[in-house]
Amino acid sequence: MRKKQYILNLKEELKHENFIQKSAKLPFESLDLPQEYSSTGNDVDINLYIIKDKGDYIVSLDINSDIQVECSRCLEPFNMDLVGSSSVVLSKKRKNTQELKEKDLNVEYLENEEQFNVNNLVREEIIVQTPMKPLCSENCKGICQVCGNNKNENPCNCEEKQKREMSPFSQLKHLLDKK
Ligand SMILES: [Zn+2]
Ligand SMILES: [Zn+2]
Repeated sequence: MRKKQYILNLKEELKHENFIQKSAKLPFESLDLPQEYSSTGNDVDINLYIIKDKGDYIVSLDINSDIQVECSRCLEPFNMDLVGSSSVVLSKKRKNTQELKEKDLNVEYLENEEQFNVNNLVREEIIVQTPMKPLCSENCKGICQVCGNNKNENPCNCEEKQKREMSPFSQLKHLLDKK
């Protein structure tokens, strides 16, 4: 079952105000992140600033989270601090591309202003802020292509050995040995 979502009724919240600010802590599990992400047990801290602009809502989001991702080289999970801000215009009208070009803003269609799902926005932001190829360390040595060892933990010399065996000299030696 899907964990409780943080749903904002924008219509109601901004009925008498043109600006609201909200802070919240969202449990990691409520964000439905892809499986390469795992929780460190900490919630994701968020700040929301919402301005009503005619029929639209301008939403600024700050996130501060501590999540676990997989290193793209050694495939070991490691903790990463993700801090980021973004803004989006939520619009009840579907805008055509011409209008979007003029404003050059990130506009998203708001399906239901009484049920704006904050978790979806936060999930997107976390994914955007995560590097394409996260690294546990700049110097991560990765995994040995030959024996599958994590070279940070157990340095091995399989790859060098293989390179040596593939060299023209050693292949020549093989031929000579066969004779
Ligand atoms: Zn690594
Ligand atoms: Zn190896």
